[in-house]
Amino acid sequence: MTARIIDGKAFAAHLRARVGTEVARLDAEHGITPGLAVVLVGEDPASEVYVRNKGRQTREAGMLSIEHRLPADTPQEDLLVLVQSLNADPQVHGILVQLPLPGHIDTDLVINSIDPAKDVDGFNILNVGLLATGQKCLVPCTPLGCLMLLREELGSLSGLEAVVVGRSNIVGKPMVQLLLREHCTVTVAHSRTRDLPEVVRRADIVIAAVGQPKMIKGDWIRRGATVIDVGINRIPAQDGKTRLVGDVDFESAREVASAITPVPGGVGPMTIACLLANTVTACCRANGLPEPRGLSA
Ligand code: NDP
Repeated sequence: MTARIIDGKAFAAHLRARVGTEVARLDAEHGITPGLAVVLVGEDPASEVYVRNKGRQTREAGMLSIEHRLPADTPQEDLLVLVQSLNADPQVHGILVQLPLPGHIDTDLVINSIDPAKDVDGFNILNVGLLATGQKCLVPCTPLGCLMLLREELGSLSGLEAVVVGRSNIVGKPMVQLLLREHCTVTVAHSRTRDLPEVVRRADIVIAAVGQPKMIKGDWIRRGATVIDVGINRIPAQDGKTRLVGDVDFESAREVASAITPVPGGVGPMTIACLLANTVTACCRANGLPEPRGLSA
């Protein structure tokens, strides 16, 4: 068996186009432009790249993109004041504070100060609680992207065995909640899990969100499983440069899985597309308008 490659890049382009259509409709029918504010504190090079890409894709979708770049030594109080002003700004429907924040800033305090209705990253404690209790909320972008790919690939997920490897607040835990909502039987594994290969072998769906290059091998995977690789790891390449690989050993896994996401070009492009989708969802909710189908969980 050679697995079908799940083309996250193409799916993300399709999702961005759907977002663009909804943005145009909101403007034509209601004179509303969804707005996304991104706040970057400091000069972390990876964060710079993310913020630039988010701004570009926001504008390409026809939305208002607002960027706030603050120096690394910005006092926490100034950041909180900025978040409050964005909370109060009617042009802003989504707020994202780029993580990680500098060490002197209390990340939880800042994230929890974002209006939950504008928390398009879905990290505010209220959205975390709403997701855990199966209520309407804003869902973290990367797990939302994984769910969309799974639904596209498998249709109904009801009754399937899912193993999520990784229990972070931004990927693993919200992924578990989303899979439970889809009526999967969910196991969550982590660095203390005993006999991880045996646990992974149970799964119809494997979600790898570990941060360890090529850790999950083909012989850990049940024949016919669907594999979603969230990992983004940079490793040395033969030409002296570096290359990106996932948490799954793609070459051996594709021989047993029925479908698998590649790295790059799988889950990665879905994250910003889902951020745009969340902003449109937040905008519709803020204006009491029906939510477009297919943009939320
Ligand atoms: P974290 O480092 O926050 O969490 C990693 C998780 O993996 C932890 O729960 C940890 O367990 C577990 N883990 C680590 N080593 C092992 C091991 N040897 N065996 C089993 N479990 C292990 O990472 P994130 O969740 O933030 O990210 C995971 C990966 O996804 C990274 O490669 C990251 O770059 C990528 N990522 C990709 C995104 C995208 O847009 N595609 C977005 C976000 C992340 P424990 O809790 O016990 O320490």
